[in-house]
Amino acid sequence: MREKLRINSKRLWDNLYELSEIGKQKDGGIYRMAFSPADMEARDWLCQKIKKAGLENFQDGALNVYGKLPVQDSSIPSVITGSHIDTVPNAGALDGALGVIVALECLQVIKENNVAHKYPLELVAFSDEEGRFGPMFGSKSFIGDMTPGNLLESTDLKNNKLIDVLTNLGYDPNKALEAARDPKTIKYYLELHIEQGPVLDSTNKEVGVVSDITGLFKWQVTLSGSANHAGTTPMDMRNDAFMGLADFAHEIPRIIEENGSEHSRMTIGMVQLYPGSANTIPEKVRFSMDVRDVSEEVMHELKNASRKVLSAIARRKKLMFDFEEINWISPVSCEPVLKACIKEQAENLGLNYHIMPSGAAHDAQMVAKIAPAAMIFVPSKAGISHSMHEWTDWRDIEAGANLMLQTLLKLTE
Ligand SMILES: [Zn+2]
Repeated sequence: MREKLRINSKRLWDNLYELSEIGKQKDGGIYRMAFSPADMEARDWLCQKIKKAGLENFQDGALNVYGKLPVQDSSIPSVITGSHIDTVPNAGALDGALGVIVALECLQVIKENNVAHKYPLELVAFSDEEGRFGPMFGSKSFIGDMTPGNLLESTDLKNNKLIDVLTNLGYDPNKALEAARDPKTIKYYLELHIEQGPVLDSTNKEVGVVSDITGLFKWQVTLSGSANHAGTTPMDMRNDAFMGLADFAHEIPRIIEENGSEHSRMTIGMVQLYPGSANTIPEKVRFSMDVRDVSEEVMHELKNASRKVLSAIARRKKLMFDFEEINWISPVSCEPVLKACIKEQAENLGLNYHIMPSGAAHDAQMVAKIAPAAMIFVPSKAGISHSMHEWTDWRDIEAGANLMLQTLLKLTE
């Protein structure tokens, strides 16, 4: 009986569609940034759905939303599944939302079929995964990694303080410090998410079993030289900060080749030139550097190599080199027991699966610090995400959702 259970495809579609309408703008993109009016509306919507499904509904101090299917003995740890429903600006319908809606659907199917489960089942929608106020406020609070200092410092790009935003919404921001969940109350954490990359789509796989979640560090680098007239300063008498960046950008493939792995990624995504005038030699360049790998050791090697290369370039170009490490998120390996279970269920369902690392950061990465965690991926069409064009074939969404359902059933048998 358990093996025959399937998700209700129409209900899954309807729920996804309804949620995608919240925060949708005329341009077709979804704007549901954490704690915005659209995000708050989506949370209300989710709470209504949880209650209608007959699940217990509650929220912690970091405004993480839960639905729970309890068992008699309240001391038994929960199998938790979820993701997030906040979005980046101009987002698509699936990033985060799919994992939460699938979690809701699975719990609903288990409840309405009165299936016995030896562990309580919980769904969670973590707050601010997309990092309006810094990376993963909700899951970070959940694992007890939030400090009063973090809370005070958290601001968005428009300099709104997190504490003010939460206070204005009628919440006590200090309660986020009480959201830390006792690890003893968590049996497993599972998250279904779109891949956000092209691997599954290009290899025609229906689902991905995530092996590791990549770690990452971000630097803000500054190279300083001197501004001077673009016409009167001879080429060999310049301290052109931009040329330092240009040299460094060229070195990136070699840094990865010599110090990285096949999973290494380095990206310069934001560059500001000062004074920023067409006829002035740039005196300063500030740029972001995003570096990722599935091994912390490799991350350290990439960090050391980048520092050496930037120092050498600065010496050669007579520039000053300075950097600030904005964050460091350690990579995690998914729990072997869970990976094996997902794989087995994928085989039972006859799915074409692929074992792969996740190149993007996820709430699962935070939760993995305190509990066994794993992830299921579904393909992203053409690898597109963080865009209104993100999409996954409905067949693959159904496959991923049924794989989550069967995995939960197996784990709670
Ligand atoms: Zn996401």
